[in-house]
Amino acid sequence: MFRKPYIKHRQASHVNMYKVGVSYLGKPVKPVYFFEVDGLLIDTGPSLAQLAVSKTVKALGVSKIILTHTHEDHSGNAAILKEQLGLPVYAHILSMEIMARGFDILPYQKAMFGRAKPVSIRPVDGKIETDQYSFEIIHTPGHAQEHIALYERKQGWLFSGDLFVAEKIKYFRKHESMSEQIKSLKKLVRLDFDYLFCNHNPQLKNGKVMLIRKMHYFEELYGQIKDHHRKGLSTEEIMKAVGIHKSLPIELLTYKDVSARYLVTSVTRELTAV
Ligand SMILES: [Zn+2]
Ligand SMILES: [Zn+2]
Repeated sequence: MFRKPYIKHRQASHVNMYKVGVSYLGKPVKPVYFFEVDGLLIDTGPSLAQLAVSKTVKALGVSKIILTHTHEDHSGNAAILKEQLGLPVYAHILSMEIMARGFDILPYQKAMFGRAKPVSIRPVDGKIETDQYSFEIIHTPGHAQEHIALYERKQGWLFSGDLFVAEKIKYFRKHESMSEQIKSLKKLVRLDFDYLFCNHNPQLKNGKVMLIRKMHYFEELYGQIKDHHRKGLSTEEIMKAVGIHKSLPIELLTYKDVSARYLVTSVTRELTAV
């Protein structure tokens, strides 16, 4: 078959890491991780890999699920795992309505991840605990309004959802906010941790250094965009001035859901609104 799901396991500290996704003609497309630690499942992978995920999770003896945010590459199997294994699904309170009614996705998301079935969410606030560990829940909006990070202080683990992804990123999705992400990053860099369990690009050492770099990159970029905007430059001119390259193929492929332009417009939109 030209499309094939895959799942790969690796362990770091006491955390089981699963890299999951689909490959087309042997080439994996945008893999995503989900994690298991002491019976807690953190995110659930995309629904196109549902069979592989169900099989893996069944064998693990999971007792509860928590979602970092509702995007379909993270929430894709929450409904089916709840149904099959009777597991409660926790997430930020803002996820409740989104996951209860479900949400449409674009063709590119269908091809890469698949739809997430609606599921009822229990809101999580403050903490989530397992037999051995205690995870502080930190609301970190910006990539998505309902986005949370999980912090295990004693172990020095930070599960950062989609807030890191890379030190420098080339694109934003339409509704992302750079200023909100900077605020969220500021909350996280005050914490003490070494492992950064990012769902697309885990950093198993120097995690905090990497997150600080990401914050500095955004702060600098934000400042530059703001200055150019004040001088009256257009979006195109600002992109050129700050070295952001156009992303026409990505825009076409995603029906303009993802674009390099949004790095700039996420800043200028908020400045104009003030
Ligand atoms: Zn996301
Ligand atoms: Zn993601």
